[in-house]
Formats: sequence, structure tokens, C-alpha cells
Amino acid sequence: MFPFKGFIIRNNFWLKVLSLGTASGITIFPFIFIGKKSTDRLILVNHERIHIRQQIELLFLGFIILYFVEYFINRMKMDAHAAYRAISLEREAYANDQNLNYLNTRKTFAFIKYYKK
Ligand SMILES: [Zn+2]
Repeated sequence: MFPFKGFIIRNNFWLKVLSLGTASGITIFPFIFIGKKSTDRLILVNHERIHIRQQIELLFLGFIILYFVEYFINRMKMDAHAAYRAISLEREAYANDQNLNYLNTRKTFAFIKYYKK
């Protein structure tokens, strides 16, 4: 449905700046930033491509709003890493990033079913 897979930029400097040094990859539509020597590259890129799909569905701005609103609500209940992992957009990406065929079969707005109260 959405064949676009993002433009991959392998650059340690921009990855560090954009993720504040916290991530091995970050997606800011239409770009996927990963480190020059990232391990598990296929899984990492697949993870970030799931975020590309989510960002298209949520018209980017909706993704940013949902991501941070969920993060801050989670953060009131748990530590920073757990709050990040509990974001529904991340839960979908982590649950499926090892399935390299996932984006071919994924339903639109699939992240909704990963939302947990
Ligand atoms: Zn992610």
C-alpha cells in the first residue's frame, strides 16, 4: 500500500544529535538515521521502517504528538526506558522488527492494537 521505505542515512554525528545520544536508530520522515557500524542492521532498519509507515499514517505530526503524549503519561508510572518501550508505536515496532516481511502484511494503523492502558 505504501511502498516508500525511507532514505537511510548512515551517519554517527546526526544519529547522536537527533537522538540525543540515546538510540541506535531514529526516524524522522522521510529519513532513517542509523550509525555507521550498527549491528543487527536488517532488524534495526526494519524497526525504523515500521516507524516510517506509522509516520505516514499519522501525517508525521500526529506521530510526534502521540509518541510524546504516551511517553509522558507512561513516565508518570515507570522509569524512562520502560516508558519508552511502552509507547504503542514502539511496542508495534519491537514486536515485529525481526519479521522482515512484516510491512508487506501489516494492516493500516496496526499500532492501535498495541496500545495498553
Ligand atoms: Zn523505535
